[in-house]
Amino acid sequence: MGSGQVTDWQGKNVTVAGLGVSGIPAAKVLHGLGAQVTVVNDGDDARARAQATELEAIGVTVRLGDGATLPEGTELIVTAPGWKPDKPLFAAAHEAGVPVWGDVELAWRLRGPDAAPWLAVTGTNGKTTTVQMLASILKAAGLRTAAVGNIGVSLLDAVLGEEQYDVLAVELSSYQLHWAPSLRAHSAAVLNIAPDHLDWHGSMEAYAKDKGRIYEGNRVACVYNVADKATEDLVREADVEEGCRAIGFTLGTPGPSQLGVVEGILVDRAFVEDRQKNAQELAEVADVDPPAPHNIANALAAAALARAYGVPPKAVRDGLRAFTPDAHRIAHVADVDGVAYVDDSKATNTHAAEASLAAYESIVWIAGGLAKGAVFEELVTKSAKRLRAAVLIGADRALIREALARHAPEVPVVDLDRTDTGAMLAAVQEAKGLAQPGDTVLLAPACASMDMFANYNQRGDAFAEAVRELGAGA
Ligand code: ADP
Repeated sequence: MGSGQVTDWQGKNVTVAGLGVSGIPAAKVLHGLGAQVTVVNDGDDARARAQATELEAIGVTVRLGDGATLPEGTELIVTAPGWKPDKPLFAAAHEAGVPVWGDVELAWRLRGPDAAPWLAVTGTNGKTTTVQMLASILKAAGLRTAAVGNIGVSLLDAVLGEEQYDVLAVELSSYQLHWAPSLRAHSAAVLNIAPDHLDWHGSMEAYAKDKGRIYEGNRVACVYNVADKATEDLVREADVEEGCRAIGFTLGTPGPSQLGVVEGILVDRAFVEDRQKNAQELAEVADVDPPAPHNIANALAAAALARAYGVPPKAVRDGLRAFTPDAHRIAHVADVDGVAYVDDSKATNTHAAEASLAAYESIVWIAGGLAKGAVFEELVTKSAKRLRAAVLIGADRALIREALARHAPEVPVVDLDRTDTGAMLAAVQEAKGLAQPGDTVLLAPACASMDMFANYNQRGDAFAEAVRELGAGA
């Protein structure tokens, strides 16, 4: 079971590590193929027991409360992507020469011989948006496609379901890439690399290396970010098919083999005849929603992958125009008294918040939450000149307050000293008092939300609700 397609699963002894969004479908599919499946799971709570009962009813063995021991006779492990590589189960597998696949690897291996090629996207931030833009462009070109993978639509379903696809737009997390040794995309993009999930990967090098796996074996194009040298380095290190090209995207004027921006126009100098002299207009900056710099970068990356697949320029424009971003990603909530209120609750790390803050000139910034070990020095230093004021909420707000005091002492700061759910209304009211006409009140927390909210959606909804109350009272 080392490499190549596994065609005969009958009686194969497979251990699925982890009950959950990827584990349960994987166990069912493998069982359906005739494999002898054992699921191991660390937890042993009521939910796990209910799931175990369901699987046992179809003939799958389930071991709850012991995710560390390798079941006797295991020939292959299929793991949930989130399981950390340093778990004892994997050490035991290594010792016994048992291969470990993630959910993506399993889907890759189970594709039929004429399966749709994959256009793959990873990066610290912008993955979901880029993959959705890409799917929209491919659809505008009349292709049968879907945005799948880490975006919440299972790759196993896409690969094994009834629906026929010409090509798939695939979002991959660094965890999924870690466990996908034989994945070979048609073309792939790494959008950016900033420190994130380092506790899982062990180091920045290991994190980047896992992201770089997306380029391995690419056939047509490896798409990188000209402004983020680490992404270009990964292209250089990748082992690709003969003739595969390195294609850069840039917010500046593109060189040959790049896509970029010239006077408000997105242009392609990569997939054109005579790229030394020619460039092809694809779309206008105004076709991208929202037209924030980082989002233009996402659009260029999506366009590069679509062009690598052979999509005509008009479909790029039509697809970008048809695209609307998911909620809580730089969503314009309302204008109140000449001040714009923008919800970027999805900016859950400093790299995302930095991109968000770079999109506006004069900002009252609402930030704070769970820092997850982040430091805020660089974010504050780079954004200081755009800040009219800052309003801080949440558990780790002191870290941001201290960074502001050190690097932007002239910026007025309101520290709300609150972590209750109602704090958002108070924060928006404070922000209203500080903002002047023409300013933007921006929720870009740079932190996770779980200290105050169930998730970033609820945090963004609380912000929008508070803005509506403000508007009603104005
Ligand atoms: P992901 O799927 O990687 O989490 P999303 O498309 O959901 O990415 O965007 C998450 C957040 O990251 C956005 O709300 C925005 O703040 C920020 N963001 C989006 N694209 C980029 C980018 N190219 N560079 C930096 N930050 C970005």
